[in-house]
Amino acid sequence: MRILIIEDEQSIAELERDYLQISGFECDIAGDGEKGLELALATDYDLIILDLMLPGLDGFEVCRRIREKKETPLIILSAKSEEFDKVRGLGLGADDYMTKPFSPGELVARVKNHIDRYSRLVGVHRSNVLKIRGLEIHRDARKVMMNGRERNLTAKEFDLLLFLAENPNKVFSRDALFDRIWGMDALGDVATVTVHVQRVREKIEEDTQNPQYIETVWGAGYRFRA
Ligand code: CA
Repeated sequence: MRILIIEDEQSIAELERDYLQISGFECDIAGDGEKGLELALATDYDLIILDLMLPGLDGFEVCRRIREKKETPLIILSAKSEEFDKVRGLGLGADDYMTKPFSPGELVARVKNHIDRYSRLVGVHRSNVLKIRGLEIHRDARKVMMNGRERNLTAKEFDLLLFLAENPNKVFSRDALFDRIWGMDALGDVATVTVHVQRVREKIEEDTQNPQYIETVWGAGYRFRA
């Protein structure tokens, strides 16, 4: 676990570092905003502790620029104790705000808490997203992304794509897909499946004549290519 401390007062930075090291964290210290921002963007830290009053680039600006690129958990630790500053810092995407003078023990506890929460969140997020080359299917959000851009699928198109993607390299007949997605009692017929497959292809395939995801298996049905 690696922490970045962006703090211009050396004695404070060292105090933070010493407490974090005792708890098993590795720490890098940046003494000004520019250096801090550079390290924050270049390295995958588990958490960042950020002072606000820094020479050069101030902490608010550092926070804003980190958040343009990264979701690393971030705690602001500042002598600025006005509500206005806290609201601004949290509004820029900081996860927490502590004021100086601070309790090093409390800082370490909050650091651990934020890292745990973040790793749980990322874990949940990952398991909910199916990734196949440029295609992302977000199960819970019922969202489909292709090369980073969202594609709007109807409910049935989404169900069809998800079902096929969750059962890759297996051939399903139109009848089987119709029963599975629309159910036995639904109106319509197997031609509905053909139409929906075509619409999904138009939304996710670069070339619908040469589909890379949902393949037609002549005389048998469709197969999702993993
Ligand atoms: Ca300072």
